[in-house]
Amino acid sequence: MALQLFNTLTRKVERFIPLDPAGRHVGMYCCGPTVHDFAHIGNFRTFVFTDLLRRYLEFRGLDVLHVMNITDVEDKIIKRVHQQQTTLKDYTGKYEAEFLKDFDALQCKRPHILPHATEHIPEIIALIEKLLARGIAYQAADGSVYFSIEKYRGCGCKYGQLVNLNFDGMRVGDRVASDEYEKESVADFALWKQRVPEDGTVFWRSPWGEGRPGWHIECSAMSIKHLGESFDLHLGGEDLMFPHHEDEIAQSEGALNLPAGRRFVEHWMHGSHLLVEGKKMSKSLGNFFTLRDLLAKGFSGREIRYLLLTAHYRAQFNFTLDGLAAARVALARIDECVGKLRELAGAASMPPGPELPLQFTKAMDDDLNVSAAWGAVFDWVTETNKKLAAGQLKGPQAAAALEAWKRVDEVFGLGSPPSDDVPPEVLALVEERQAARKAKDFKRSDVVRDQLKALGWVVEDTAKGPRVKRI
Ligand code: AMP
Ligand code: ZN
Repeated sequence: MALQLFNTLTRKVERFIPLDPAGRHVGMYCCGPTVHDFAHIGNFRTFVFTDLLRRYLEFRGLDVLHVMNITDVEDKIIKRVHQQQTTLKDYTGKYEAEFLKDFDALQCKRPHILPHATEHIPEIIALIEKLLARGIAYQAADGSVYFSIEKYRGCGCKYGQLVNLNFDGMRVGDRVASDEYEKESVADFALWKQRVPEDGTVFWRSPWGEGRPGWHIECSAMSIKHLGESFDLHLGGEDLMFPHHEDEIAQSEGALNLPAGRRFVEHWMHGSHLLVEGKKMSKSLGNFFTLRDLLAKGFSGREIRYLLLTAHYRAQFNFTLDGLAAARVALARIDECVGKLRELAGAASMPPGPELPLQFTKAMDDDLNVSAAWGAVFDWVTETNKKLAAGQLKGPQAAAALEAWKRVDEVFGLGSPPSDDVPPEVLALVEERQAARKAKDFKRSDVVRDQLKALGWVVEDTAKGPRVKRI
């Protein structure tokens, strides 16, 4: 089966065909964090989903260019900068660094490009100028530049591609200046916001006076700059469908005047929101978790990643601490099985057994059906454990099984458990090797190194002493 993915634009699961005529390169843009605070576990559901998709595309042999922006100027940020009497750079720099720490802790692959909105002001201005030149944007009496929905529709373009909109109550020229608004208040939205006293030192010069960009135009400018006028995939959480992504389409297709049949983005994908203990996360309900809150409770980023990966990206997911504890147990089951295979395989090397990767691919090709994929993994764990218990596996078969798991784990990205799970016999050998080296008995230390290798471990000598890791 070919890879099938749901497309919010067509509301259908459809075959994913890259725009690249060679069928190899894929451009993927994901709306990144608004760095106004620590990201919460819901945000990370979306980022883990985008990481899963990227890894799966790579697993399918595609060459993905992954772009994720950092929104470092928008309404919420400006408000906080003003409240805290700080500078935009100091404020957003801190939260960006914290975000990336969390992102790494969840073992997400870093995007190839992480563009910042504030570093794309010339591109943003150029895009607005194109919209003005085409008569789709206008400067209002308040000095700000707005996108005209009426003019856009008048050009034969469709506003309301991702969501259905009701234009009956809409009054021509009604404007909305804020970055976030409801579907019911569909109105001309701000592309460039005229500087106001509350903006403090946050402003840039433009042909329309001092001001700052609207949130939506930032993503249009950055995605076009890094992926071109028409690209394959655009991702985000479901809340971004409207207005953010609808406005991105309107600005981009309005400014670019693409040839017939061409779209700004071929395939839009949206992750369903995460609930916590059955409810929307809120600080007052006490169900608001950042990643660091969960790490402080003793869970690892790897366990949280695993839990987030157990639910289909379009299914509602209820995050609970009990669920996280259960995830720890399930993951330990996989780790135990894989650990035994490693020991048995030792230094043997074999190509992967075909069955697990095959079942996995079948499941994931079906719009990233992780439930079926995990089903295949746990069936494999049960079967492997049976064979291990019956002494039916020798080194080479264990190596083949291990390679099969490694293939699958290129996508799930769980890797090995942290090294504090190093078995006692391995630790004992590491100590023995250290003692031998101290005594300058290098022959003995080499023998111990080989023994470790046979158990599936390598030891590295670092400035802080020996460090042991799985092969
Ligand atoms: P923000 O930093 O608010 O721009 O959000 C970053 C990403 O997290 C966006 O793609 C949002 O759609 C997504 N997001 C926000 N809340 C949740 C949630 N509760 N569950 C899943 N994704 C979310
Ligand atoms: Zn965006």
